[in-house]
Amino acid sequence: MEECRCGRVDIDSTGAIVVADLLSVDGHRRGVIARATTHIHQDHIRGLKRSIREAAMHIASPLTHDLLSAYGHHIPYYRRVDVSYGTKISIEDLYVKLLPANHVPGAAEVYVETSNGATILYTGDFKLPGTEIVEGVDVLVMDATYGMPEWRRPWQQEMEYILPDLVDDSLSKGPVHIYAYNGKIEEVVLLLRRMNVVTPIIVDGKRFRGLKTLERHGYKIGEVLYSGSQEALEVKRDGWYIEFHGFYEWRRRRSTVNGSKAVHMLLTGWEFRAPYNWLTSREVVVSFSDHADFTQLVDYVLQTKPRLVIVDASRGGTAARVFSEYLKQRYGIRAYAYP
Ligand SMILES: [Zn+2]
Repeated sequence: MEECRCGRVDIDSTGAIVVADLLSVDGHRRGVIARATTHIHQDHIRGLKRSIREAAMHIASPLTHDLLSAYGHHIPYYRRVDVSYGTKISIEDLYVKLLPANHVPGAAEVYVETSNGATILYTGDFKLPGTEIVEGVDVLVMDATYGMPEWRRPWQQEMEYILPDLVDDSLSKGPVHIYAYNGKIEEVVLLLRRMNVVTPIIVDGKRFRGLKTLERHGYKIGEVLYSGSQEALEVKRDGWYIEFHGFYEWRRRRSTVNGSKAVHMLLTGWEFRAPYNWLTSREVVVSFSDHADFTQLVDYVLQTKPRLVIVDASRGGTAARVFSEYLKQRYGIRAYAYP
């Protein structure tokens, strides 16, 4: 627990980042007035039901709120406080802002200013570029999923071009099946469309609702079909399509399509050898992450120049400890991992 001149910043073992006992972020703390959620991933929506019951406000970006409900987490209107990026709201004597984070669509950092002018920034999950940097914050609470020095993906920023090219090439062999976590699927659909991949996309019910939510928020998702629909069946007969599956369905990939010329693609952040590695002529593991790698984590801290860094060890574990030590030893930055 850190006593700083800004009042208490705390991380519970449940993963709640708590500011001044008033606001809990990405986890529940009894007695807070407000709960904020940075993005839709499971490890950031812990305790959501309790927060909705007990805290007066639930704060998130409008898109995160809508994606939560698309994924079946209902937040009643009298609790829901939509906060657009950059808009300041107050919670007693705290000022709170959400800032854009490049992670999954809707993701935000949480920036807090206390009545005595101290500033706290919690990154949530993020990668660079596209995540706002706030220079000179007093306390930076950060995610360091890839906090080990050997966890680097030098090609990370080029994946924006490499992945669409790989998908395009693979489509000349047959349909492409992509396996990834929720959130990353949405991110990749937007990326493919941005890079002019116009192939029909097939997804199941929950993900279909998620993508339609993005469309309502003005994102271009192109032709997206619900996997059980007549249109999807017709597209499958033609054989020119991209189908998205959950990460864990990779294990069942061979039964996904019987005897076809499909290409199977697993997206994971834990591939550090090359941008992608073919296992067979039709199975490829792609190094695609929505988190900063080690190099980006260090860049982020050096650009932010915080007075104190608290690395979230409730999610980062050993990597969080290694990363905070590295900041101390290599750059003399006051840093530690907590809890
Ligand atoms: Zn995440």
